[in-house]
Amino acid sequence: MSTLRLGCIADDFTGASDLANNLVRAGMAVVQTIGVPSQPVADVDAVVVALKSRSTAAADAVARSLAALRWLQAQGCSQFYFKVCSTFDSTPAGNIGPVAEALLDALGADFACVTPAFPENARTVYQGHLFVGDALLSDSGMRNHPLTPMTDANLVRVLQAQVQSRVGLVGHAVVRRGPEAIRARIAQLRAEGCRFGIVDAVADQDLLALGLALHDAALVVAGSGVAIGLPRNHGLAPSAAAATLPPARGAAAVVSGSCSVATNQQVAAFVQAGGPAWQVDPLRIAQGHDVVGEALAWATPLLGAQPVLLYSGAAPAPVQDVQGRLGAARAGALVEQTLAAIAKGLVERGVGRLVVAGGETSGAAVQALGVQQLRIGPQIDPGVPWCFAGARACGVDVHLALKSGNFGGPDFFRDAFARLA
Ligand code: ADP
Repeated sequence: MSTLRLGCIADDFTGASDLANNLVRAGMAVVQTIGVPSQPVADVDAVVVALKSRSTAAADAVARSLAALRWLQAQGCSQFYFKVCSTFDSTPAGNIGPVAEALLDALGADFACVTPAFPENARTVYQGHLFVGDALLSDSGMRNHPLTPMTDANLVRVLQAQVQSRVGLVGHAVVRRGPEAIRARIAQLRAEGCRFGIVDAVADQDLLALGLALHDAALVVAGSGVAIGLPRNHGLAPSAAAATLPPARGAAAVVSGSCSVATNQQVAAFVQAGGPAWQVDPLRIAQGHDVVGEALAWATPLLGAQPVLLYSGAAPAPVQDVQGRLGAARAGALVEQTLAAIAKGLVERGVGRLVVAGGETSGAAVQALGVQQLRIGPQIDPGVPWCFAGARACGVDVHLALKSGNFGGPDFFRDAFARLA
């Protein structure tokens, strides 16, 4: 009999992994899918469907989210989780509000709690205002985001601008009194005609109380934090069993296309420790050289238990130089395609344990490998778990760790493989 209970719809890829990671830590067996899958999912407690709908047109985000909802309903899910960004990335046009309203309509439900709070990750909500560390959202770097600048920290106001229905607040004075008080406040908001309630949470215990209060809620709209409180409603508790993956096999490799500060440090630490590393030169790709072939010829004799690193990242100045010559979008696409082809070539040559650094780079690699589903395993560092996937394009199974640029400690490229042993 299927144990599938929770159906999740995430508005981007690395956000989906972050949510899946939290659910696994709280005791659920989880599969993450890339888009709405064609195959059913077996033997898990939750599925996270990763969409790319955070910054698309609202109508498109709604259509994709409803397609995901229908698929999750057909799989037998009884509760649904719309995963949004922990900095509530959106504009007055959406997409959080329009998608949340469409999901409520489709479920025939009349209320959803909404909170991006995740104190462990320094995201807290108080009096409806979102803090990033010790700064209000509107004073954080998010105010300059190129696509979704967040200039107002008051989430009641932010969400209200995106929806037809009324938005209220479940304030901290209520949340700290526990699940019953939260449920009473939700009933009050519904009686007042509200369809959404922004929920304050400044500590894990607030999220745990909220989780219990939501045991029969049809829909929750949240960052990844609320995930820590939901599995208990199904009699599940944190255990290593949920994170168990099949044994790892094959050679170890890292492919990195991130230029983020944390990744640059990880590359430097790997090289300093004597790890074999090969740098991809974007200008040689643009000149038409067979960079994929050169990289694979370098890596193949070195493949084994110790990881090899193939990377494109550089300091800001050389990256800007390349972007000036090729254009930022073309440079990015060329490097992504090259690294994805290298990742595929490595798996074809026997790599069974692969770390990919960079959000966009990970998306390209997963696509090149033909991965459609990832079983989520043990956490390496916060927000980054090992996963197990069938690489359809290569006809083999592979363990993957997909690291968003700024995640992970300095020795991530070594620690990751130790975590899998
Ligand atoms: P992150 O998670 O750090 O943002 P991404 O993979 O999402 O990493 O984005 C990094 C982008 O930079 C990708 O499009 C990648 O192809 C591009 N890139 C990587 N290395 C270089 C480079 N040396 N010059 C120009 N662009 C690069």
